[in-house]
Amino acid sequence: MLQKFYDEKLKADYETTDLRLFNWQIIKNQKIKIVFLDIDNTLVKHGSREPDEYAKQVIQVLRKHEFDICILSNAMSDRITEFADNLGVDYLENARKPSAKRLLEKLEKKGYTNQEAILVGDQLFTDIWAGKNAGCLTLLVQQRFHDEAFQVKLKRHLEKYLIRKYQK
Ligand SMILES: [Mg+2]
Repeated sequence: MLQKFYDEKLKADYETTDLRLFNWQIIKNQKIKIVFLDIDNTLVKHGSREPDEYAKQVIQVLRKHEFDICILSNAMSDRITEFADNLGVDYLENARKPSAKRLLEKLEKKGYTNQEAILVGDQLFTDIWAGKNAGCLTLLVQQRFHDEAFQVKLKRHLEKYLIRKYQK
């Protein structure tokens, strides 16, 4: 039963250690038009207000492939707005991942279907789950930094356990 849940909700379609080196052409070939990007530990260190070189380079690579880009975060603060403005991309704050509701609303507003979107993030229980719930493609990226709050660390252990046990 847990295997089924894992396959349906937590198993990312793709995985990478570095978003700059990922083969985005594969995604492009699947007629994906928009990339939703988690911020914390996907693009930058948790809580960063400003994109660093890595984050800027990721956006550059995505632009080169002519993807529409939207940052999404469960946080709701001027940090998200500031961050997105800095990169010149759209954003969705208070995304309520793993729920797909806000994500699907945003997709509709932007004129895309769920099959034209990919969700990129570092956590199974928020990002990947949300992407799966929305019926989008999903890409799991290795977390950029390792100093995290205790409850996040705990969640990582569970994620690793599930991946080891159920990933095939
Ligand atoms: Mg994250």
